[in-house]
Amino acid sequence: MKHFDPAAAINAAQHTSAERGINPSINDSATFTFEHGQTMTDTFHGETEGLYLYSRNWNPSATSLCRALAAMEGTEAAWCTGSGMAAITCALLQCLQKGDHCVASMTVYGGTFAFLDNYCKRLGIEVTFVDSTNFAEVQAACKPNTKVIYTETMSNPLLRISNIPKLREVADKAGAKLIVDNTFTPMIFSPYKLGAHIVVYSMTKFINGKNDCVAGAICADNDFVNSLVDVNSGTAMLLGPVLDSYRATSILKNLYTLHIRMQQHSKNAMYLAKRFNEIGIKANYPGLEEHIDHNVMKEQMNESFGYGGMIAIDLITAERANDLMEKMQEKGIGFLAVSLGYFRTLFSCSGKSTSSEVPDDIQQKMGMSEGLVRYSVGLDNDIEHTFSLIEDCLKELKYI
Ligand SMILES: *Cc1c(COP(=O)(O)O)cnc(C)c1O
Repeated sequence: MKHFDPAAAINAAQHTSAERGINPSINDSATFTFEHGQTMTDTFHGETEGLYLYSRNWNPSATSLCRALAAMEGTEAAWCTGSGMAAITCALLQCLQKGDHCVASMTVYGGTFAFLDNYCKRLGIEVTFVDSTNFAEVQAACKPNTKVIYTETMSNPLLRISNIPKLREVADKAGAKLIVDNTFTPMIFSPYKLGAHIVVYSMTKFINGKNDCVAGAICADNDFVNSLVDVNSGTAMLLGPVLDSYRATSILKNLYTLHIRMQQHSKNAMYLAKRFNEIGIKANYPGLEEHIDHNVMKEQMNESFGYGGMIAIDLITAERANDLMEKMQEKGIGFLAVSLGYFRTLFSCSGKSTSSEVPDDIQQKMGMSEGLVRYSVGLDNDIEHTFSLIEDCLKELKYI
């Protein structure tokens, strides 16, 4: 497990185009031609191999990306979607029907929380939110109709770490599937190898790393991925949130530099976290020994990619947070923007933005302060200089 190398696995899965271009060709056909009518019928029934029918189902460019993603996760298969939310909702709806129950971490991404808390009700699906780092609580929440346990490897914005093997044990006891969102920590964690049944991603973030598009992915075994695209009952096939072939091809190229980017994001975040602490601003970063989940992370992570690119600092009030973020943007440290995984640093005040769908009482229960500033640390070559600029901002505002 420790020796799984997702970056090497992607390289091993690489294949050239039919014309021997070193990058796969973009296939921008919505439909595909058959020589024989019978072959088309057989393909509709899923009885042929390597043939394409229609691009809402499979497209050769999307398939190239899916192969690489499956290699990265160590899963048999993958399917890519037009957004992270599409990946999450399709995976959930494929597993959950009216009358079913889902146990979910209360710290999940705001959109996921809103889907589970509001939208699932409309469909007659019941959801219980729990502290997913507390196994007794997760287990106690399980019922005979529990079909899914849902969590994120690294939570937002407090960067708590899920213990995947333990949660898998709970899922097995409950007869449920464990779905894990690994958006914050691609390559750093391999949730499928650790025991998740299904891994979902917003590729909008680190995987693509350019913030030039919105995209998602579902990685799982062949049975699950085939069930998603089944022409009669597949959630992905029937709701149709397909990723365009141009985007699939461009994301694939970015995947080959993901390991280097993760290393640099992690290196820079670790530096900032340490320096913040030295000047008396408490930084939340799982790479620091004092972080509550430091050891849980160490036990599960693939070595060499670091502890990730996210850090959070607490400025107590939203007003103080806003003043700092505006100043940092003025000084060119990065952008006051939501999202993450970009090559430049992005910062936002979580309680008032990406977690604003989460009700105040749950924000409090999570231990979230309204003045929490989350950084997605960029790929800066001179992070020491970046920190000195942040320090100037803090001094000008008299926070230090
Ligand atoms: C951004 C994000 C999502 C949603 O992805 P989109 O690509 O914006 O639809 C889901 N989960 C996490 C952890 C995210 O950060």
